[in-house]
Amino acid sequence: MREILHIQGGQCGNQIGSKFWEVICDEHGIDTTGKYSGDASSSDLQLERINVYYNEASGGKYVPRAVLMDLEPGTMESIRSGPFGHIFRPDNFVHGQSGAGNNWAKGHYTEGAELIDAVLDVVRKEAENCDCLQGFQVCHSLGGGTGSGMGTLLISKIREEYPDRMMLTFSVFPSPKVSDTVVEPYNATLSVHQLVENADECMVLDNEALYDICFRTLKLSTPSFGDLNHLISATMSGVTCCLRFPGQLNSDLRKLAVNLIPFPRLHFFMVGFAPLTSRGSQGYLSLTVPELTQQMWDSKNMMCAADPRHGRYLTASAMFRGKMSTKEVDEQMINVQNKNSSYFVEWIPNNVKSSVCDIPPTGLTMASTFVGNSTSIQEMFRRVSEQFTAMFRRKAFLHWYTGEGMDEMEFTEAESNMNDLVAEYQQYQDATVEEDGEYEEEGEENYDD
Ligand code: GDP
Repeated sequence: MREILHIQGGQCGNQIGSKFWEVICDEHGIDTTGKYSGDASSSDLQLERINVYYNEASGGKYVPRAVLMDLEPGTMESIRSGPFGHIFRPDNFVHGQSGAGNNWAKGHYTEGAELIDAVLDVVRKEAENCDCLQGFQVCHSLGGGTGSGMGTLLISKIREEYPDRMMLTFSVFPSPKVSDTVVEPYNATLSVHQLVENADECMVLDNEALYDICFRTLKLSTPSFGDLNHLISATMSGVTCCLRFPGQLNSDLRKLAVNLIPFPRLHFFMVGFAPLTSRGSQGYLSLTVPELTQQMWDSKNMMCAADPRHGRYLTASAMFRGKMSTKEVDEQMINVQNKNSSYFVEWIPNNVKSSVCDIPPTGLTMASTFVGNSTSIQEMFRRVSEQFTAMFRRKAFLHWYTGEGMDEMEFTEAESNMNDLVAEYQQYQDATVEEDGEYEEEGEENYDD
């Protein structure tokens, strides 16, 4: 058994995290009371790896291995009173009363620091119950105070205590299109500074891209968090599919990391999903393997506002779901790479992997999820960095952070760490293989659009 311990923090983290559990409970045939009530013909597949995410309790109940934390009670109370509220272990709800007021410093250094030991106690208890814990997954937003500040505090504490376990994050990046809090670029940059050092792999969920998908592709005129989160939960289900069902490719967090991360700091992934659907519209869509493949690589299907055609892929993985021919999948994937070879670094041969999982997501006959390590992700970091720098140059809003005891120096360091990250992506985007095996910096790339 290779268990994963799930942690969700803050408003956004708790909202996307509980959606994730609803979706995977459904896929594994677990009802709202934790009982298996799936389809007898697929029970082997549904239950074979159930222990990755669930503990088995007495009476044949499956309990999510999940810890829920927040600095205010509201979001967690509505989860508790929601349809799946009773599936979680009551002791694993840890919350304070004060709130973090969208202030990273409150989450990381003051209010959050007071609550962190209570969270770590629950984490430790869950970890001790595991046969062989493979790692952790954390759901949070980077733009607020709790998921962002306290989330990254927890990540660093876990790294200290479990240095050899994997740390995967589902991190929601802020966008002014979706939120109206001006300090979000501060909170996000301070978090990225932490994630670069203390997380192994980060699935980037960028509210800017999620908003654009809802507005442009799904034609929703005023997308709500519920609409954005529908895309997120479909993506999270797709990304974790290879961890939850039997199969070969990326079957645990470490294998996923080994395939996708050629350099340790470059562990921020673009995720794509096909077919894109809005809430309630599934079931009408059925796509062919070539259509799924085409859409999955399309920048319009990426959950990150960056265009892969402005960069190059270091590595990528594709997970197809549903009944389909593996041979056709392989052919289509080879086809994409051959036609677009300039978008893949040539110095990592065979850098695209694909797999098929028999079980489709609920409501679809086929789907595919794409995880790519693309140098174009620097576009998103640049966007946040520009917003950060515009304010920081004038030290605007800094007193909220220094008032919690933070030093201006940490802002400077976070800013330069993120700028370094952007420069590293650029460096590998430009690197080519010389005949003698030396890397060479290139000027303009030749892209066939
Ligand atoms: P926290 O409770 O202090 O961690 O703060 P929030 O999670 O509310 O963080 C605010 C950021 O998260 C802003 O960028 C919001 O746009 C975003 N956000 C809040 N709730 C959601 C949600 O349910 N879904 C998505 N996609 N983003 C959210």
